[in-house]
Amino acid sequence: EHRIIPVFPWFAIDIGGTLVKLVYFEPLDLTPDEILTEGEILMNIRHYLTSNRAYGAEGFRDDALELTNIKLGGRRGNLHFIRFPTSQMHNFIDLCVMKNLHTLTFQVFATGGGAYKFEQDAVEKLKLTWCKCDEIETLIKGLSYLSKLNPNECFYYEEPENNANLNKHSLKFDMKKPFLLVNIGSGISILHVESETKVRRISGTSIGGATFLGLSCLLTDCSSYEEAIKLASEGDSTKVDKLVRDIYGGDYDRFGLPGHIVASSFGHMNAPDKREQASKADLARATLVTVLNNIGSISMMCARTENVDRILFSGSFLRINDLSMRILAYAMDYWSNNEIKAIFLEHEGYFSAVGCLREFIM
Ligand code: ADP
Repeated sequence: EHRIIPVFPWFAIDIGGTLVKLVYFEPLDLTPDEILTEGEILMNIRHYLTSNRAYGAEGFRDDALELTNIKLGGRRGNLHFIRFPTSQMHNFIDLCVMKNLHTLTFQVFATGGGAYKFEQDAVEKLKLTWCKCDEIETLIKGLSYLSKLNPNECFYYEEPENNANLNKHSLKFDMKKPFLLVNIGSGISILHVESETKVRRISGTSIGGATFLGLSCLLTDCSSYEEAIKLASEGDSTKVDKLVRDIYGGDYDRFGLPGHIVASSFGHMNAPDKREQASKADLARATLVTVLNNIGSISMMCARTENVDRILFSGSFLRINDLSMRILAYAMDYWSNNEIKAIFLEHEGYFSAVGCLREFIM
């Protein structure tokens, strides 16, 4: 079997509703011949990408996620993870022109809705071959690749409700048994995965990561995801939500509902005195909890219907968001009597981009 491996650079891009995720494979085993033919432009790109952590005001390299000295397509190298807001996509294309990328001919694999939306602009301005890939197929491919490659990729919380216990455990994930994959991006897709090639999208909801961020901006005047998460981590949602105990004075025993369960999200906010007492942080926390409760209950329902006991959560909504992961993990443990396990992923929102990069080699 003889396959033609494309020339460098190896880039793949996932252009989502909120964030662009870019993965770049930096080869470490360039032959003297390749070094000679690589040319100045590629060398500059390599240097620019790998020696910076911030690109302009809004691009970032997640250096903590970098995978060093790995094998991809028979080559050895480092895998870099870069993100920037989708609102900057046109500027990004112009930057590539400025860096003279348009004078090279190369192939880029692109996925996410933006692979369609930005195709014309990218192809017209940059002299590249734009290969579109389906985002769900690439998501599964990326998951399969990274969960095998990285022993710490998949993890769960032992006691998610105990904030003092940082019991995060890695686990070896077996993709051959059916599971649910809940991707929390701007919106949410729920997939039933039987094998790498047998995947169904069984449900979804429009109440996702962008809903959390949008409502937080409206309610608290914050202006970034980082700020919204920080506020949420400092807030108390029970100042905003109506709990079972606010209605019953205690537990609702007949149906086994403890008093601390939310009966009505934002249910206190019709009362002027309660509104007065709720801080911005409380509102951000309640927004987060509302979105998470909804995700949790839909995921649980799907897991029961499909008869699976593992739910994997992916998507950038869980980025720097230990709080949300713990809330989800606790909800799964609680409502399933510890029968259904919530599992999280180190590379959060990057799986589709990684799966797209794998197109180079298979
Ligand atoms: P999409 O592919 O739809 O862009 P992602 O998986 O990238 O989805 O997740 C987007 C969500 O991630 C946002 O709605 C927000 O909740 C969260 N998020 C994490 N980091 C950021 C950030 N730096 N800027 C905006 N949203 C972010």
